[in-house]
Amino acid sequence: MTFLITAGPTREPIDPVRYLSNRSSGKMGYAIAGAASHKGCRVILISGPTQIEVPDGCDFIPVETASEMSDAVAHWLPRADVAIMSAAVSDYRIKEYHEQKMKKEDGVDELTLTLVKNPDILAEARSVHGFPGLLVGFAAETENIKENAIKKLERKGCDLILANDVSRPGEGFDSDLNTLLAFYADGEKELGSHTKEHLGEVIIELCDEFLKKK
Ligand code: C5P
Repeated sequence: MTFLITAGPTREPIDPVRYLSNRSSGKMGYAIAGAASHKGCRVILISGPTQIEVPDGCDFIPVETASEMSDAVAHWLPRADVAIMSAAVSDYRIKEYHEQKMKKEDGVDELTLTLVKNPDILAEARSVHGFPGLLVGFAAETENIKENAIKKLERKGCDLILANDVSRPGEGFDSDLNTLLAFYADGEKELGSHTKEHLGEVIIELCDEFLKKK
C-alpha cells in the first residue's frame, strides 16, 4: 500500500529575500506520514518548508512553491493507492517575481502586489489526473464547518474531507492538538480532539476502512 501525503505550507516568492506563506507547521501531515510508515506502508511525503523531522521510512520530496508541489504530485500520484492532501497550499502566487530585492522608494507609501491563482492540487488529482485511489482532503475552517466541508467534498471530488475548526484556541495551525470531523458521501464521523500523532493513526485506520468499501 502506498500513501502520497502533502504537508506543510508553500512559499510563494516575491523577490530573492521575501515570500508569501501561512502558519502551517506540517505537524498534521507528518503525523499521518509517520503513522502510515509505522504500519509498514510506503509513504511519499511531499512537503513545503517545515521545522520538523521527517518520519522514519518516508520518501521525502521537499518543495517550496505550490507549482513545485503540483508538479511533484503529478509525478508521484500514479504510484499511490491513497492520496492525503494536508498541505496548506497558497491559493495565489505573485504574478511578477522581482529578480532583484524590491527597494523602499521615497514618496511610495502604498504598494500593490498582483497575485494570480495557483493550481488546486487536491481538485486536480481527480479532475486532471483521474486518480482512481482514495482521495482525502482537509478543510481548515473558521465558520460553517459542516456546510463548507460538504461543499469541498463535492467541488474537489474527494472521497473524504477531514475538517477542523482553526478558530479554536490552542488547536489547528502550528499546534500539537487538533479536533477533526470526517465527511464523506454517505455520512460523517467525529474523530475527536487528540494529539496530531494519535489523529494520524486514526486517519490511517479510517483510510483502511474506506479502502475495504471501495
Ligand atoms: O480550498 P481549500 O484550500 O480550503 O481546500 C483545502 C484542501 O485542499 C486541503 O486538503 C489542501 O491540501 C487542498 N489544496 C490543494 N491545493 C490548493 C489549495 C488547497 O491541494 N491550491
